[in-house]
Amino acid sequence: MIRWLLKWSRKFSVFFHKLCYPNKIAFILVNEAPSDISSRRVYLEGADMEDLWFAYLKCPCGCKDTIMLNLIPDTKPCWTYLHDKLGNQSLTPSVNRKFQCKSHFWIKNNRIVIV
Ligand SMILES: [Zn+2]
Repeated sequence: MIRWLLKWSRKFSVFFHKLCYPNKIAFILVNEAPSDISSRRVYLEGADMEDLWFAYLKCPCGCKDTIMLNLIPDTKPCWTYLHDKLGNQSLTPSVNRKFQCKSHFWIKNNRIVIV
């Protein structure tokens, strides 16, 4: 029952976010790798926002691949999650896929910026 409620609350959250912020990417903290990844969301896996392990997102090119980014500093390659007081959230450096679709993009201030 709780799992069902969590699933539907996430679906409602995605719907509400798309309705209110059609071009923005939402970041959501999860405590385990998500089984269902929505577009226009970055799932941050970790204990809390100061202790993050991985980020998951759908490739923004439309290929529907799931991209997993390492956020653990002592493992390479490594991305860094950034946020400011205004609520802007980013991951750095850019994501540059060398295989499959070869997309290259930044996630800056809750937006995907295709290079
Ligand atoms: Zn792609």
